[in-house]
Amino acid sequence: MPAGGTLAPSDAVITPLDEIRVRADFPILERSIRGKRLAYLDSAASAQKPMTVIESMREYYAEHHSNVHRGVHLLSEEATTAFEGARDTARRFLNASLAEEIIFTSGTTAGVNLVAQSWGRSNLGPGDEVVVTTFEHHSNLVPWQVATQQAGASLRVVPLDSHGALDLGEYERLLGPRTRLVAVSHASNVLGTVAPIAEMTAMAHQVGALVFVDGAQAAPHFPIDLQALDCDFYALSGHKLYGPTGIGVLYGRAELLSQMTPWQTGGGMIQRVEFEGSTWAPPPARFEAGTPPIAEAVGFAAAMDYLSRIGFQAISDHEQTLLTYLTEQLETVPGITIFGTAPGKIGVVSFGLDGVHPHDVATVVDTHGVAVRAGHHCAQPLMRHLGVSATLRASLGLYNTRADVDQLVVALGDARRRLGA
Ligand SMILES: *Cc1c(COP(=O)(O)O)cnc(C)c1O
Repeated sequence: MPAGGTLAPSDAVITPLDEIRVRADFPILERSIRGKRLAYLDSAASAQKPMTVIESMREYYAEHHSNVHRGVHLLSEEATTAFEGARDTARRFLNASLAEEIIFTSGTTAGVNLVAQSWGRSNLGPGDEVVVTTFEHHSNLVPWQVATQQAGASLRVVPLDSHGALDLGEYERLLGPRTRLVAVSHASNVLGTVAPIAEMTAMAHQVGALVFVDGAQAAPHFPIDLQALDCDFYALSGHKLYGPTGIGVLYGRAELLSQMTPWQTGGGMIQRVEFEGSTWAPPPARFEAGTPPIAEAVGFAAAMDYLSRIGFQAISDHEQTLLTYLTEQLETVPGITIFGTAPGKIGVVSFGLDGVHPHDVATVVDTHGVAVRAGHHCAQPLMRHLGVSATLRASLGLYNTRADVDQLVVALGDARRRLGA
């Protein structure tokens, strides 16, 4: 299990992951792609959905749909129960103490923007500093760039060591009386590096700074215990966690959320409205203006239940074993460079092949039914740090097997021949 993972008591009895059964849960894996078996190695961009997620949303629409919260009729009551039930599923999944600390958003990006704007507007001023890291996804970088520019504050950047791990000595030196907040990814979507959040949070809190964690890549791979991490905000996306698109969670510490002003305003988030002015509902409603993604919340809860049933110990053991195999097999490919070798990394492997462009390789590999990603992975500053414009990335999910890795390696051999590498 990567660093930062802790086990919930329910995971105590472990059965190893049953590859065949798990794969059968994901109907899309039966598709053939360009006449070949699909080897889906792009879960870091978006994970595939198990039937239970798809079915939960179908059933919600077919039998229970109406708008939430304001209705007195039965369907509205059922929709409200389903939506608020999903909130409690998320609270348990993340081990937050209160359901009021769970805000449904459209995804990680929306969660970052919410805090950067709502919290940032009243808490960032001239001379203040926000600390980010070299491996941040644009989603956890650009909103802080905008918020600090608006406030006359500035960004400080934590450097990486040669393996792609955060340099904690430098991190400690960057923290000071002007640090207002640290924004850090729990796991890098390019390098796979896992950040030591509990340790970084304790250091930030010592100087009175808050910690915002981008958990988009961490939550699919190991259990998140928000009370143990002690961070102040945590954002994630449903679609990377085997759930639907269009939904995510923003966790915020209750005492912080209750002091924050809304980011978006409209229906559902007010207490009282007069032409002269309005007052706000308490969290989480204050931050959920408009009709929320109800069916998506239902599907997201089904995804979290699905993962909890399998258990993160089994998922992590399976993915870590496969990560070792993937790394060993890639190292047999001539001319390969792997970016990111930090201990305890998640199943995300970025690499380059000498003399050929990642996009050309990905195109050839696709003809073999292998889905990998090529590009800057929304991390242009990190690409600059690595001295490349793009990389290839193979990322693992709980449904991947050795057969997927073998198919990738054969496809890479063909790409080298065809592209003259
Ligand atoms: C995918 C990703 C995001 C953005 O998530 P969205 O679902 O596109 O909002 C942010 N951070 C990391 C590390 C990611 O991998």
